[in-house]
Amino acid sequence: MSKPVLTIVVPCYNEEEVLETTIKVLETKITQFINNNIVSEKSNILFVDDGSRDGTWSIIYKESLYNSKVNGLKLARNVGHQHALYAGLITAKNSADCVVSIDADLQDDETIIVEFLQKFNEGFDIVYGVREKRDTDHYFKKTTAEAFYKFMKKLGVNLIYNHADFRLMSRRAVEELEKFEEVNLFLRGIVPLIGFPSTSVYYNRKERLAGETKYPLRKMLSFAFEGITSFSITPIRFVLFLGFLSFFTSILFGTYFISLKFLGETETGWTSLITSIWLIGGLQLIAIGLIGEYIGKIYKESKRRPRYSVDIDTLNLKQSLLGRN
Ligand code: UDP
Ligand code: MG
Repeated sequence: MSKPVLTIVVPCYNEEEVLETTIKVLETKITQFINNNIVSEKSNILFVDDGSRDGTWSIIYKESLYNSKVNGLKLARNVGHQHALYAGLITAKNSADCVVSIDADLQDDETIIVEFLQKFNEGFDIVYGVREKRDTDHYFKKTTAEAFYKFMKKLGVNLIYNHADFRLMSRRAVEELEKFEEVNLFLRGIVPLIGFPSTSVYYNRKERLAGETKYPLRKMLSFAFEGITSFSITPIRFVLFLGFLSFFTSILFGTYFISLKFLGETETGWTSLITSIWLIGGLQLIAIGLIGEYIGKIYKESKRRPRYSVDIDTLNLKQSLLGRN
């Protein structure tokens, strides 16, 4: 069997402080794989500059000029980690058999890429890097991340627990990913939806090499919100549920207060006022919830997600075998 071409995709945003080290580390890795006959000598690293404002692009560009293993893709503006990564994956799949995505700060353990490749050779299309511990994360990040994964699970979204975007994907998995045309990208949720054979490799996350996190609280919150609203219409259902709750409460209260009125124990006007507040409130929430349900449907339709992905088709298999003979 011929050796696979590997491309390591690295999204970078204002990463001048770490980039030179990252290039060295990843290039050594690739050279090592090539020397050990694990991957083809055409394997390379693709740095995606996500509209950085510092010297990131000039480092990538200079390196790519004389280093055949390093390529660069400069995005015209900052589009965020997920879109930058996507751009890298789609570009890489044209020449690579498998693509590994890793952050520029090398927090993810590059030494386990060799295990990713072993799994790929065993026939897995997707290999998730999963954090064993979160020792290097601050208490706040750790607890909020855990709460987020739990909440997503409650909402019925299939996420790989403690997996960030450090993973290997085969070319056909990236091609399948391309069929998800949605603009709101939440790769951690979409990749498991592809459904091709997948497995996990465990590692410990390190400290950031240098520089600050490019995911401040504001970006983290919007990322979490994106994740929730891109994959679930449960929040809309919750409104409908509240509506019914308020409606039935109004009926219960209403009956109770009206009976009190007949016993002559209430202020004038109070019964009708309190009952109608709950009733109208309930009806309004039900109406909003119902409209929400339809908007939810439109929302799902508008994503135009593929209905299915074919893993094996023996007809094709036979044809390609016959074609070879
Ligand atoms: N990143 C990006 N665009 C952005 C923000 C971040 O391409 O708008 C990249 C960043 O350069 C890094 C990766 O996404 O390679 C993850 O960011 P970071 O390490 O700052 O996140 P953290 O590890 O703190 O969650
Ligand atoms: Mg990081």
